[in-house]
Amino acid sequence: MIVSERKPLAEIRRMIAPYQRLLTLGCGTCATVCGAGGEREVSFLNSALRVAQAKSGNETHTLSEYTVKRQCDLEFLDPLVEKVGDIDAILALSCGIGMQVIAERFPDMPVLPGVNTSFMGAVDEYGVWDERCAACGDCRLEETGGICPITRCTKGILNGPCAGTKDGKCEVSKDMDCGWILIYKRLEGLGQLEKMRRYYPPRNFRTIPRPKRIISQANIDTGEDND
Ligand code: SF4
Ligand code: SF4
Repeated sequence: MIVSERKPLAEIRRMIAPYQRLLTLGCGTCATVCGAGGEREVSFLNSALRVAQAKSGNETHTLSEYTVKRQCDLEFLDPLVEKVGDIDAILALSCGIGMQVIAERFPDMPVLPGVNTSFMGAVDEYGVWDERCAACGDCRLEETGGICPITRCTKGILNGPCAGTKDGKCEVSKDMDCGWILIYKRLEGLGQLEKMRRYYPPRNFRTIPRPKRIISQANIDTGEDND
């Protein structure tokens, strides 16, 4: 999932200052799961903004709220059509992808980012998210037992471990597991330790084509136009 975290209230207040009528828009998928922009966070943010507004005494924003199932998917944005007529800007609590889909769908409507998009990750423990994939465009997980060397190794090296690993921890911090020791143990468990002995040539990350676009295999299969 895409992990994001809410921007500081002061930054949000600076952003919304030029606009009178705002819709705080939540996303019911990733932003909800990571506690950055679901229905509850939308409501909490609007309450915090109202309190700050009352304290300042010189702000008169009108704040409304709504949460769609997914901001990054056009099919869930239709309910917004009737709402955008009454507002001056959307304060979007979704990842940067969701915000851009909103901006494309409503070209005349300013879209303000209420969260910072952090990374693609998974939950490590309650309320803690760890990066798991950097979308490098050339997945190596088959070679590394399903553990990503780019995000789990601090240096992102493809032929680890480096000389700094000690007692299974990374030399950068003894609180961090060494990604390559995790890979070793995983390959050992799978009976695939020979993969540790291979040499993987360096990668030139600058050759990864951008912008990235993935065409759905389903569309290819049905012969639909993919352009
Ligand atoms: S190798 Fe790592 S960063 Fe690259 S696609 Fe696979 S999981 Fe993502
Ligand atoms: S100690 Fe392990 S995780 Fe840290 S940089 Fe070296 S190989 Fe990567």
